Amino acid sequence: MAQPAYRTAELEQFRRAFRDFVSAEITPNISEWESRGELPRSFWQAMGRYGYLCPWLEESLGGSNAEFGYSVVICEELGRTGAMGIQTAVSVHSDIAAPYIDRYAAEDLRRRWLPGCATGDIVTAIAMTEPGAGSDLAAIRTSAVLDGDDYVVNGQKTFITNGMSCDLLVLAVKTDPAAEPAHAGISLLAVEAGTPGFVKARKLDKMGQHAGDTGELFFEDCRVPRSHLLGEEGKGFRYLME
Ligand SMILES: Cc1cc2nc3c(=O)[nH]c(=O)nc-3n(C[C@H](O)[C@H](O)[C@H](O)COP(=O)(O)OP(=O)(O)OC[C@H]3O[C@@H](n4cnc5c(N)ncnc54)[C@H](O)[C@@H]3O)c2cc1C
Repeated sequence: MAQPAYRTAELEQFRRAFRDFVSAEITPNISEWESRGELPRSFWQAMGRYGYLCPWLEESLGGSNAEFGYSVVICEELGRTGAMGIQTAVSVHSDIAAPYIDRYAAEDLRRRWLPGCATGDIVTAIAMTEPGAGSDLAAIRTSAVLDGDDYVVNGQKTFITNGMSCDLLVLAVKTDPAAEPAHAGISLLAVEAGTPGFVKARKLDKMGQHAGDTGELFFEDCRVPRSHLLGEEGKGFRYLME
């Protein structure tokens, strides 16, 4: 049987180095992190120190410009620990949320946020799901209404990985609730933690994946600068499906 593309000698060498890191820095702490229900910032910063966060990021922004196989190896080796909450938290940050910032944020914001994504000083999350909209993403109701130079966001998100610990959130909103088809009214905004009206309400209890936090978030007249729109208005659903 053919070897997967990420079983190269170079990636196997990387795997050995990362496995040593996991044994030294992660395995001894798993039971503590599982009982706390969240990962400490020191975990993210240790990952960042060795280049294990956002390895695909360009070097000028602090990444390694590495091929996707590196993310696969990191994901597999974190999975081997059995603490899937750690793997989910890292994958959501490195390989799901931060890439939207890389691809769709304005250049000045890419330069402001992405270096921190690589060092672990900025942890990202992505919020699509709502109490009334899971698989049916087009049914989201969180709204973003332009008012001057800001979007005013109101709504609720749930089941958000890294929701409680994130510093930066990729948020799916309806900018045009009347759009037909409904998915054409969805846009993505980047929202910084600490923005007034962005409320991290509750860490959810789960059956597993305890080391990673999963949060319920509220937006109450939360003003997000218009410049934090990711890509173009109305194209959020398409970006999420890419
Ligand atoms: C641990 C965890 C982490 C998560 N992290 C995030 C996150 O970071 N960000 C985020 O936005 N969301 C996150 N989610 C939410 C996740 O994306 C949703 O749970 C998922 O989209 C399903 O939505 P739902 O739970 O509302 O289920 P529903 O959409 O209500 O689906 C329930 C069941 O019905 C089935 N179903 C739905 N529609 C159809 C259909 N048309 N035909 C046939 N069957 C159908 C589904 O397959 C499923 O089995 C997370 C969830 C979990 C459990």
